[in-house]
Amino acid sequence: MNDFRYLPGVSTLRLKEDLCIGCGACVEVCPHQVFSVNESKATIVDLDGCMECGACALNCPVAAITVSPGVGCASYIIQTWIKGKGAVIECC
Ligand code: SF4
Ligand code: SF4
Repeated sequence: MNDFRYLPGVSTLRLKEDLCIGCGACVEVCPHQVFSVNESKATIVDLDGCMECGACALNCPVAAITVSPGVGCASYIIQTWIKGKGAVIECC
């Protein structure tokens, strides 16, 4: 998804591909098409498209996905609001 994105390089989303059983749940629930499943393994195809909603991690049956909802993007944006654009922002 290119119409609604946060900032590059701040997502906390991680995938342990060795645990993945290829069920496709992450592809089904992700609103931003972050995942793809090929040959029974999920891969992250658009990390910066992740908005850290947490749906994929909640629905993965083998806990192959971790994400801290709202930590990366939300933290960055809130600090930008508080400190102002151009300020040095601490982000995960
Ligand atoms: S946290 Fe939400 S937006 Fe990010 S990959 Fe998972 S389902 Fe998609
Ligand atoms: S939900 Fe979990 S097990 Fe299913 S395809 Fe995605 S990462 Fe793999």
